[in-house]
Amino acid sequence: MPVSGLPPYDDGNIFARILRGEIPARKVYDDAHALAFHDIAPQAPVHVLVIPKGAYVSVADFSAQASPEEVAGFWRAVAQVARQLGLENQGFRVLTNMGADAGQEVPHFHVHIFGGKPLGPMLARG
Ligand code: 5GP
Repeated sequence: MPVSGLPPYDDGNIFARILRGEIPARKVYDDAHALAFHDIAPQAPVHVLVIPKGAYVSVADFSAQASPEEVAGFWRAVAQVARQLGLENQGFRVLTNMGADAGQEVPHFHVHIFGGKPLGPMLARG
């Protein structure tokens, strides 16, 4: 059971289908622990999603249930993807949405990497 307020993992979600190769994605990175691909509706010049290979609904679920190897492998992959995309010098933003208040759309844990321009304030005011 996931530890968050989200429903149990549904392996019909869109990122599970990308992991299984059932639908295409513009992949930029793939290793034992993580897959990274361009977001279908980019909100910055660079907008890439990084997802773990395992079935976790959210950052809370992943952090509580994944093995130390999965956790370390995933976060190393996030940094590696940013480096590979050439974002290290100018900087980038890593963001994850969890649950209703954050507007999480896809119930497979993922982080967004944004970059390629000055990104402005972290959240819209108000
Ligand atoms: P969330 O709101 O869950 O943090 O973000 C989900 C993200 O997944 C959104 O930015 C959305 O554009 C992206 N997305 C949704 N469906 C697809 C898809 O089929 N392919 C790709 N590459 N991205 C998707």
